[in-house]
Amino acid sequence: MTKAVYDVVIIGGGPGGLSAALYAARGRLKTLVIEEKTQMGGQCATTSELENYPGIIDTGSGLSNKFYEHAKKFGAQFLKDRVIGFTIDTDGFHKNIQLKNNGEVIAKSIIIATGTKPRIIGIPGEEEFKGRGVSYCATCDADFYEDLDVVVVGSGNTAVEESVFLTKVVNQVNLVVIHEEGKLDADKIAQEQAFANPKINFIWNSTIAAIEGDELVESVQLKNIKTGELTKLETPGVFMFVGTVPQTDWLKGKFPLNQWGYINVDEKQETEVAGVFAVGDVCDKFLRQVVTATGDGATAAVAALQYIEQEEYWQEHVLGADKPVLAVFWSPLQAESTALMPEIEAFAQDHDFKIVPVDASRNKRLAERYQIRELPTIVGLTKGKENIRLTQPQKSNFEELL
Ligand SMILES: Cc1cc2nc3c(=O)[nH]c(=O)nc-3n(C[C@H](O)[C@H](O)[C@H](O)COP(=O)(O)OP(=O)(O)OC[C@H]3O[C@@H](n4cnc5c(N)ncnc54)[C@H](O)[C@@H]3O)c2cc1C
Repeated sequence: MTKAVYDVVIIGGGPGGLSAALYAARGRLKTLVIEEKTQMGGQCATTSELENYPGIIDTGSGLSNKFYEHAKKFGAQFLKDRVIGFTIDTDGFHKNIQLKNNGEVIAKSIIIATGTKPRIIGIPGEEEFKGRGVSYCATCDADFYEDLDVVVVGSGNTAVEESVFLTKVVNQVNLVVIHEEGKLDADKIAQEQAFANPKINFIWNSTIAAIEGDELVESVQLKNIKTGELTKLETPGVFMFVGTVPQTDWLKGKFPLNQWGYINVDEKQETEVAGVFAVGDVCDKFLRQVVTATGDGATAAVAALQYIEQEEYWQEHVLGADKPVLAVFWSPLQAESTALMPEIEAFAQDHDFKIVPVDASRNKRLAERYQIRELPTIVGLTKGKENIRLTQPQKSNFEELL
């Protein structure tokens, strides 16, 4: 049985992936989203309240459901599995994506949208009590601590906003902050809300050195980073919000990543590998938020559509052509290019060549693949194999093509 070939396979069902799915499916691309979790929405789904997505104020899971329903309505398909790797076919176009449980799927383009995961600080007790008092998600676990005192570690937006959310359920939040009194890394509005909240007790100049308990968490060791003094604080719950790391372990050593494990992309969200795009928090970028992830998703889907059209055209009209092809790399904005076009068209007609014009300013990938440094350049190909090249040719050079 032949395997289905998807135009786009999107890896990760967070805001970036779901927005890419909507744009791709609405652009009539055969689209598959592969998400390892049952719940769609990624980190957005674990966010208590989202106040900064334009036009919508909702819970994170509410907004995630809307993203999912919207993509599904336009025909995106979904598969629950974990992607463990992919390879590029020998044709340089098709990609084989390996799944943990369901074998392989084939795609013409890939959009990586695997986001980030919470940073583990690695103190004693953190791993041991994960899910038994140590949490990385306030929305998921707040209810376990109704009317109790909890500890939150961190000083960025996530730590501060999730502390404010926790105060709706718990008795008191002890927010452990590494900085001097009064200094938080969160934005101004989040800081104002936290400072005005009587249920938040700030513990400045501090970190936690250990998490202790028996079956469940019972206390933490607070460490004053100025004096080194250790004190015990009793608590059944510790929420860790000390940053995130990219979910790219599955790509290490097999795909270009920067020194921190993030993916570099260009203005079309395309990675260094042709036809492979990356969106959202997994990218090396300035602002990791829902609104930027969804913007990336839209860009990548439209760029994937253009990539597929250009590649398919090239495969069919150049690599698969039954007579010699003259690929003319040109630019409609350049006088030498526009002067050349009618001359080369007349020549090709007289000598039974097929002409394929390539606007090098729009199709930079192809220009790069054929190492075009100057325009116009004519590349003569037979069955995809280059046999002659004329750079900035004059009419008098055309005979060489014969
Ligand atoms: C607690 C918290 C509060 C936040 N609050 C806000 C806020 O108020 N406003 C805001 O704009 N942003 C907020 N953010 C940030 C926002 O959630 C992220 O910027 C956004 O979710 C990024 O979307 P994404 O699609 O890039 O990745 P993610 O949301 O991280 O989604 C990635 C998805 O990929 C899946 N995945 C990973 N690896 C694989 C694999 N190999 N195979 C298959 N699936 C895989 C994951 O399971 C996940 O579902 C918050 C984040 C957190 C953690």
